[in-house]
Amino acid sequence: MNYIYAKILRGGKSNRKYHVSIYAKSLIFVVNIIKMNHPWKTTRPFNDYSSYIKNIFGVRVQKLSLNAGFTCPNRDGVKGRKGCTYCNNLSFNPAYCKPKKSITQQLEEGKSFFERKGKSQKYLAYFQAYTNTYAPLDLLKDLYEEALKVPGVLGLVISTRPDCIDEQKLDYLTELAKDFYISLEYGMESFNDNTLDAINRCHSAEETRAAIRASEGRGLHLGGHLVLGLPGDNEETILSFADEVNQLPLDLLKLHHLQIVTGSTMFKQYTEDPGYFSLFSVDSYLQLLLSFMERLNPDTVIERFTAEAPADILVAPKWSLKNFEFTAKFEKHLNENNAWQGKFFDRSASLKVA
Ligand code: SF4
Repeated sequence: MNYIYAKILRGGKSNRKYHVSIYAKSLIFVVNIIKMNHPWKTTRPFNDYSSYIKNIFGVRVQKLSLNAGFTCPNRDGVKGRKGCTYCNNLSFNPAYCKPKKSITQQLEEGKSFFERKGKSQKYLAYFQAYTNTYAPLDLLKDLYEEALKVPGVLGLVISTRPDCIDEQKLDYLTELAKDFYISLEYGMESFNDNTLDAINRCHSAEETRAAIRASEGRGLHLGGHLVLGLPGDNEETILSFADEVNQLPLDLLKLHHLQIVTGSTMFKQYTEDPGYFSLFSVDSYLQLLLSFMERLNPDTVIERFTAEAPADILVAPKWSLKNFEFTAKFEKHLNENNAWQGKFFDRSASLKVA
């Protein structure tokens, strides 16, 4: 490097321009080598999901969303009827997912859309809508195993609540995980019990911790989902959630900023009293997310930073940014601020073993 720099100083004007460019490229190369020392071994400033999937499968793998016709205890009356205050399930289901269609039909329709991208494409069946372990075990077995028989499906991603899993179901999933990729994704949403009450979640933070711990050591890929900016949570509590995640055996994390959608209780609350909510602007979310990521264990794979509710039901905030556009913005923001996932993570203070 010194040699190149000396040559720049000695050379003429055009020569200098040429060497400055070489010097800049060398510098970027060195910085990238340093960044490759991140546990995730890429130059990105966070542990990204697509690299994680590529490392596991070695091919393109697409998640196909399913609506298997489940409900949830927070809607069927077992715990409540109104649901979580932010919830409108339409906000996270593509049009091809209708519970009247069989699992096979939904997956085949999803496949026909994505196969245009290449015949080598493989899939994970994503049991997404409502609570996907909330049924008798025999029914779950039928649905999961039907999905696994569809050609090209390499595994399952099962989204659920922490209070809808038990030892029997976990034992069954443990067996499946010997042959397939099985990911269990817990809706955690907040670790603040006052907030969980305020959003009518009908489970506690302790139930979340217990369910995730009970799922550990079974060959399952464990995921968690948080909504940042719920009423009752502030910057301090949100940042403390990174420490909570660091204490749990979670492999994957999904982050969403709070959005108000029609058809939810929050929509009514927002209409009556918008001041009850502190919704993020793009800039305020970028800044909070940066601090959150600096605290987060670098071993935790980040599946998403935002969610994009369909435009026809989204009330606020309206960012007009696709997920990939926000991610690119955030990546730039991290790089410009010399920040990265786990920058201030203290491994000795975490119970999670790398
Ligand atoms: S967010 Fe999930 S648990 Fe809450 S009401 Fe909606 S489907 Fe039920």
